[in-house]
Amino acid sequence: MTRRWLAEASLMAITGLWLTSCASPPTTQALAKEAAAAMGGLDRLRGVQTVAMKGGTGTRLRLGQMEHATDEEMPGVLTDVVETLDLVNNRAALDYEIKMGDFGQHRQEVLTRKNGRAVGLENVAGRPLAVVSPSGLFSWGTQNSPEFLIKRNAIGIILAAADTASSEMPQTRDFAGSPHAFGTTRLASGETIGLYFNTQTKLLDAYETTDTESMLGDQPSVYTLSDYRDVAGAKLPHKITIVKGGKPYSEVQFASAAVNDANSLAVFLIPEAANAEVDKAIAAGDYSPVTIAKVSDGVFFARAYSHNSLVVEFPSYLAVVEAAYTDAQSATLARVLATQFPNKPIRYAAVTHYHYDHTGGLRGLAAVGATIVAAKEHEPMLRPILETPHTNPADALELARRAGKAGTIEFFEGKKVISDGGQSLELYSVTGIPHVEPKVLAFVPKAGVLFQSDLFFPGTGAPAGPDAIALLRAVKTLNLKVTTNAGGHGGVGPFAELEKAVAAAQKAS
Ligand SMILES: [Zn+2]
Repeated sequence: MTRRWLAEASLMAITGLWLTSCASPPTTQALAKEAAAAMGGLDRLRGVQTVAMKGGTGTRLRLGQMEHATDEEMPGVLTDVVETLDLVNNRAALDYEIKMGDFGQHRQEVLTRKNGRAVGLENVAGRPLAVVSPSGLFSWGTQNSPEFLIKRNAIGIILAAADTASSEMPQTRDFAGSPHAFGTTRLASGETIGLYFNTQTKLLDAYETTDTESMLGDQPSVYTLSDYRDVAGAKLPHKITIVKGGKPYSEVQFASAAVNDANSLAVFLIPEAANAEVDKAIAAGDYSPVTIAKVSDGVFFARAYSHNSLVVEFPSYLAVVEAAYTDAQSATLARVLATQFPNKPIRYAAVTHYHYDHTGGLRGLAAVGATIVAAKEHEPMLRPILETPHTNPADALELARRAGKAGTIEFFEGKKVISDGGQSLELYSVTGIPHVEPKVLAFVPKAGVLFQSDLFFPGTGAPAGPDAIALLRAVKTLNLKVTTNAGGHGGVGPFAELEKAVAAAQKAS
């Protein structure tokens, strides 16, 4: 072996090393570019302005509709799912049919824009169109709100990763039982998102990040994309499975998709008749329609879009029964009450039951300092709603908590009375009502006003079902002198309406 040969050998070794590093796995950005190529190419993806995913069927969980607070949840069944995304104007819409046991609803939640300003339209079959702020959109579809379609769609994420300079060397990580190339990127929102690239197909098989859910709070979330199919030259996933906090959240299999179809944009049109309300919602910030009507001295009905509340006036404060639907509704309610009752803060917010559509505004009322009052048995559902951090982005309660201004929660067993200056609000935790176990009934004895939700819809002519029959029995057992029945759904009616409906139901059976 000569010296010269040795030198050449070491030179070759160095060159070899260099070559090896050059051929080592590409950066996350390079993998994103490869994924984009596998999806039809960067130019094709950049040319996608709208996507309409159609004919979806699947499931949705985490709806909080159990009979007992500790029950296992039954999935809601989704059909006719259409998800429309306008990538140019950041608009998105969820449209679906959901069924949970006997309950079924055709819902449409639309995040659209007027002169560039975001606004929400909620369209539920059988109800008038509701105009709300985007924060006031409530969804039982594949996502918490249509805003998630904008933030968490495969095209947007791949383009962001392909456009973000990265020297990060992806790791090998197992996903769904096979090794994937895993790297992270940063979205325009500043969020970090982890990407799982399929080493064979080069496609994006999954991504993970933190989603802040309105009811569940911060959840480590994993989106699995599969069944990529060609749609006008772009390859798009037709099956999307979402896991939040390690538990199944939603899954949808779409039958077809359309790209840049002008017809699909019709969902974003604001009806002429809704324009004034749209302007109002945009100007208000967090907004959902709420009007206050007097029921009796010191008792008011807060009529909302679909989930109403009762307001009881005390000498120096107010108590609200039912913090329903969304925090946008609670923010609106708090504003409306502050105007009508200056210097009377909402000191208490009573919970009738934990079902998420009736507790979606709990955090919003705790954020304005209300003490949440609830049945002990509801604690396993209510504590996580109030106590899980909401940081991406921070919600009103998170901010109030940081400022030391948040309301607390207290639990009662059996009966709780809030009483001051001759006014009182009685809360009864009642067992034996089928809807939920237990159910809290609220009663204002001075006015003879009962508030109940989901059991009987006063003022609507609705028939009495098993819940209404159980409600009447409970009122009689408790010996409450009820003259007026106010509903979480429906309106306000004389108590005799319930008695008549129950008598008719019993006669028919
Ligand atoms: Zn309910």
